[in-house]
Amino acid sequence: MIKLSKRLQRIADYITINNRVADIGSDHALLPVYLLQSGKCPSAIAGELNYGPMLAAKKQAADAGLTNRLNVRQGNGLAVLEAGEVDTVTIAGMGGSLMSEILEAGYIAGKLDGVSELVLQPNVGEDAVRIWLLNRGWKLNDETILEEDGKIYEVLHASKSTDAAEHNEKMYDGSFLQIDWDKPTLTSYLIRMGPYLLRNPHPALIKKWKNEINKIEWICDKLSSSDLPESALKRKQFQAEMKSIQEVLNCLQMDKQ
Ligand code: SAM
Repeated sequence: MIKLSKRLQRIADYITINNRVADIGSDHALLPVYLLQSGKCPSAIAGELNYGPMLAAKKQAADAGLTNRLNVRQGNGLAVLEAGEVDTVTIAGMGGSLMSEILEAGYIAGKLDGVSELVLQPNVGEDAVRIWLLNRGWKLNDETILEEDGKIYEVLHASKSTDAAEHNEKMYDGSFLQIDWDKPTLTSYLIRMGPYLLRNPHPALIKKWKNEINKIEWICDKLSSSDLPESALKRKQFQAEMKSIQEVLNCLQMDKQ
């Protein structure tokens, strides 16, 4: 059986047993091949925009002897699907804004009708994905942060549920942080940093946001050598952002003691 990376294994583990799965952006089709080989899923579709990666996915399916249960299709995002064809959609390894564009286009085209589960792993811009899930009424069930080969990844699990709005309202209530900010500001940091990840802080989360602070600090240093008035303003904004992230981190570290 195919051995998945820690990142792909986490995605696989989130998928509900016996669901029919579409993996969108599936070069090499590693995840669907694993899901079929392990017996977790009865059938799968691998959707891929580009010809080369689509061929690689086809080869993987053929090599594994799975062409009867793994359907590899070339196309843009969820356009490769018919409504009602799958229960779970996974999208991994691309930016959060592209991912939310794919989801929105699919939603408008009715491709998400009948889909009950989403497992999403944005490489950057996780906030765009959380905002899309919130706006389209998906219940955020869980989040994982993990480090592999020096990179930090977040995986989000969401489902269709009648109590989504009520559940999300509670999850995105940042009062547990005990920071004296207004509610919208607190919520904006939960959207950015992850409501589950902040409630159950993992060392990878602290590392990710310390790295982010270092990046912003570096930009501030560059801006300080500019005489432009806009640079001074930008620098102030970045400094405020750094301070806010640090404040959230301090509060998490205090919680752990
Ligand atoms: N999902 C795999 C993973 O996480 O290991 C592959 C990630 S790979 C970096 C991203 C893949 O998404 C590429 O093969 C790319 O061609 C594909 N892709 C990008 N935009 C896409 C779109 N709009 N629809 C389908 N596939 C897309």
